[in-house]
Amino acid sequence: MSILKLTNISKSYHSKVGTFDVLKSINLEIQKNSNTFLFGPSGCGKSTLLNIISGMDTPDQGVIHFNDNKIKNHFELLKNEIGIIFQDHYLISELNIIDNMKLKSSNLKNINEIFDYFNINELKEKFPNQLSNGQKQRVCVARALVNMPKLLIADEPTSYLDKENAQLVIDLIINSSKRYNLSTIIASHDLSFKKSFDISYTINDKNLIIC
Ligand code: ADP
Repeated sequence: MSILKLTNISKSYHSKVGTFDVLKSINLEIQKNSNTFLFGPSGCGKSTLLNIISGMDTPDQGVIHFNDNKIKNHFELLKNEIGIIFQDHYLISELNIIDNMKLKSSNLKNINEIFDYFNINELKEKFPNQLSNGQKQRVCVARALVNMPKLLIADEPTSYLDKENAQLVIDLIINSSKRYNLSTIIASHDLSFKKSFDISYTINDKNLIIC
């Protein structure tokens, strides 16, 4: 059973110097409760693909199905079904961590459940600038989960972390996917994470291939 299906997705960028093709007729099916790794060097098109899946960008061609329904509008999906973790934390510096969470969800039961599971209750009253990069990114994983989404998308979520903290964040994402029955798609240029995932792809010459 697939949670997400991309059919024939193409994307080009246009500028004065001409057209630059990034993705060409990409097909991808993400299974329910599976973890997918998107690997590739900087510039190969990972963010472009993830942005199209999350609705932050639109493809020139192709269709996306979520839970077997063609996506016409990402609004409802982003509220409840899709969680996103960014490279940067985007926490509001004037708000403590619990208030940052409440911006995303008013469901305190969910917030408390996830904070217990992540073992980060001691961070609730702190402000973002009092947290290490590793703690900030754990909070961001928690924030992406408070609406109990079915698909979690993360674009280079470990870029600002040392090796040890990076693996901890990847482990947290994978373990959360099993606890909360969700699928994940995680992009990184670091191939060492591949072993944590069920399936891995790379983008080579505008095409998606299993690696
Ligand atoms: P990655 O995430 O793998 O680093 P990106 O998807 O960010 O790759 O970028 C893929 C290619 O598309 C790069 O060559 C990049 O320069 C180009 N690109 C990305 N966004 C734009 C844009 N808004 N306008 C023009 N070119 C872009």
